[in-house]
Amino acid sequence: MNKQRHLVVISGPSGTGKDTVAQRLIQLHPEIEVSVSATSRAPRPGEQEGVNYYYMTRENFEEKIAAGEILEYTEYCGNYYGTPKSEVDRRIERGITVILVIEVDGAANMRRLYPDCNTIFVRPPSYDELERRLRSRGTEDEASIRRRLSRAVEEMEYAVDYSSVVVNDTVDQCAEEIYQLICEGLK
Ligand code: ADP
Ligand code: 5GP
Repeated sequence: MNKQRHLVVISGPSGTGKDTVAQRLIQLHPEIEVSVSATSRAPRPGEQEGVNYYYMTRENFEEKIAAGEILEYTEYCGNYYGTPKSEVDRRIERGITVILVIEVDGAANMRRLYPDCNTIFVRPPSYDELERRLRSRGTEDEASIRRRLSRAVEEMEYAVDYSSVVVNDTVDQCAEEIYQLICEGLK
């Protein structure tokens, strides 16, 4: 079996519910793991170092890129986000399924590096519901909400590049659909 099938890339506009669904998925199926990314954005209240992200300054992030420690990265709404190599390689070698929740440019880079990875695009039920979720999360100021909503319109165009598309109507339904797609991908 191709080891790259253990690599699952999930994208979708900010506020769609990707992180919520990924956390539910690993609660239901603890054999699956979620990659922790590095970022230069500040932690939101309640977020924890090494759990939600590895937080670092832009300078530290650039040092890690130069040292070849970042598999893929991008700048999104003014901050760096990237996948540390160590989050992926050790898992796929051991046959552990690992989920990367990353935006569309990162997903394109992963596809170039791992052409057989399983890519899943998560759509919100509607644009209005996306805005409602983003606002109800209460983590962004108005300018950041506007930037994310405007980027969302562009991001939706990328759905066609993914192996599958799912809609996040309810968290449990979406987590289950993604689980089924992961299982299908491993057959
Ligand atoms: P993302 O990781 O895509 O940016 P989050 O997981 O942070 O999105 O979810 C954004 C907000 O929407 C959160 O407040 C979350 O609780 C809520 N949410 C996620 N999924 C659903 C859903 N299926 N129905 C209603 N609200 C949801
Ligand atoms: P947030 O600030 O809401 O946590 O994340 C903003 C966007 O960055 C989301 O679309 C999220 O999926 C994406 N993201 C998180 N980590 C990574 C990463 O390692 N690489 C890339 N390319 N995008 C990421």
